[in-house]
Amino acid sequence: MTPRRVLVLGGTAEARELADALAAEPDVVVTTSLAGRTRDPRLPAGDVRTGGFGGVDGLAAALSEVDLLVDATHPFAARMTGHAAAAAARVGTPWVVLRRPGWAEGPDDDWRRVPTTGAAATAVVGFRRVFLAIGRQGVGEFLDVDAWFLVRAIEAPDALPTRSELLLARGPFALDDERALLRRHRVDVVVAKDSGGATEAKLVAARELGVPVVLVDRPPLPEGVRVVDDVAGALAVVREQPSPPHGWGPYSS
Ligand code: NAP
Repeated sequence: MTPRRVLVLGGTAEARELADALAAEPDVVVTTSLAGRTRDPRLPAGDVRTGGFGGVDGLAAALSEVDLLVDATHPFAARMTGHAAAAAARVGTPWVVLRRPGWAEGPDDDWRRVPTTGAAATAVVGFRRVFLAIGRQGVGEFLDVDAWFLVRAIEAPDALPTRSELLLARGPFALDDERALLRRHRVDVVVAKDSGGATEAKLVAARELGVPVVLVDRPPLPEGVRVVDDVAGALAVVREQPSPPHGWGPYSS
């Protein structure tokens, strides 16, 4: 049987799990694409390519070589997902988005949902000590806010608010440490992105300490795209794909 060639756009734990599962499937050849931002990434099974495609044109060219695209990028990687939509439409490659569900507010949470990081900067006006836990991108939106910031990111942002402390660290973080961090810095509001997945310790710590959270919503998905919310769902989509006609696959003669 001619193998189905699957391209997984990665950068998440789910993408890695999916690639590991697909590599064990009969008649599937999987390639994971990584943006190349992480210095020492945990690599999935199967083939791996690294670096941008060079926009929609480059991705469309890559898609002409595969039978299915799974966009398993982070929910906030909106540019890549936009390119996937445009390139898949152009080439006619079937595609699906694997996106973990967002977080749901519990009765003891005080969450203020906002649509963008810009709106989050407005929402923190009036607070004095802000824990900015949105990564390095988007920090620039907060430069004019009159407050003290604890900025946590894996790599340093291009610019920091005047009154701030930078904490370079990579999660996941333990609840005890998050609780201690909020207390030590007398944080009175947390800003986070609705990344979803297992509820993060910072949100639990904020709940326990009665600290409000400004939560940035995910950017919207392209209209009409098929979405699955876990690895099993993505695996099912791959399995329902028909094998390409004889002569298309990389192993055919
Ligand atoms: P983005 O803004 O949506 O994409 C910017 C550009 O990076 C894309 O146009 C593309 O370049 C390249 N790119 C992104 N993902 C790629 C992939 N999987 N393979 C090849 N090229 C990719 O993305 P981002 O928010 O900077 O995120 C970059 C990567 O980090 C993604 O893989 C994402 O899953 C992961 N990540 C993001 C976040 C977040 O909060 N945004 C959090 C955790 C992990 P070309 O136009 O040249 O193709």
